[in-house]
Amino acid sequence: MLPKGANLQKIRNGNKTYAVTPHLPGGFVKPEVLEKYAQVARKYEGTLKLTSAQRIMITNLKAEDIEAIWAELGMQPAMGFANCVRSVKVCPGIAFCKRGKQDSVKLGLELDRRYIKKEMPSRMKFGVSGCPNSCSESVIKDVGVIGTEAGWDVYVGGSAGSHPRLADKLAESLDYYDTLRLVDIVVRYYQKYADIERVGQFIDRIGFAKFQADVLAEFNGTGAVESTVTASTVSSEKLTPMPGALTEGTLVVGDPITQGSVIADIIRIYPQTIPVLRGFGMGCLGCPSATGEPLEKAAGIHGLAVEELIVALNEVVLRGKLT
Ligand code: SF4
Repeated sequence: MLPKGANLQKIRNGNKTYAVTPHLPGGFVKPEVLEKYAQVARKYEGTLKLTSAQRIMITNLKAEDIEAIWAELGMQPAMGFANCVRSVKVCPGIAFCKRGKQDSVKLGLELDRRYIKKEMPSRMKFGVSGCPNSCSESVIKDVGVIGTEAGWDVYVGGSAGSHPRLADKLAESLDYYDTLRLVDIVVRYYQKYADIERVGQFIDRIGFAKFQADVLAEFNGTGAVESTVTASTVSSEKLTPMPGALTEGTLVVGDPITQGSVIADIIRIYPQTIPVLRGFGMGCLGCPSATGEPLEKAAGIHGLAVEELIVALNEVVLRGKLT
């Protein structure tokens, strides 16, 4: 059986080796997190490899070490399941690059927070570039944005790999909030109407003219696809849960755990909290009725101080996360 949070890499002489790839929003990594990678790779004789999605993979690992490796890293796997938002590639933008026209780090991290691992009809990749040099390869991403002097241009339907396709430009010169709003409409339109197909294949099937007309009609307030993003609510807005997605329930990746967080959501979104819950004596994590309770209620049943539990859980969640 495949070890949880690992990918099978090679089978040599009947021996399997695996890789783990933690999520690194925007490709940013703190020195202390980098040290963890090095410690784990050294201890378990892994090989470190930079990936095209701005992550660091540790490969050449043994199945029996995977659980301990995740515990020692204290990080989350980058991948949810096959058909989800797999990556948001972000260039340095105006924060760090002299050519930057827009703040790709701010927009990219917000898109990562909203959509990473969210279930989709097929795999989906985002690219956020701070200027037309497009170092995040925005035109070969399912959703790509490129900063210009005038704002953000939004592209859809790009892909690389064995069926390369250049993205179509959907809109141009949008501000930050309108970009988030348009991307949200694109994502929802794709979720609602696509079969098991990439965004580009979906566009080729229905025609870009129809795709653009439907999405922009909604964007301009005359369509039928609901967007959850508005300028006034963008900073505090939470994703609407999608059936079957990792965002279903009370938590979205990136949210802090609170007393109202449901146990099932906590362990699905942040599986690294399971040992913490068990450490507090909550051994009933396999029971659907028990895991359907909010943290506060579950803590009360076990005679625990919920505040103490919240601190311990969030400590594990925040470990290794860019803050
Ligand atoms: S896309 Fe532009 S802003 Fe981003 S890293 Fe490349 S040159 Fe710099």
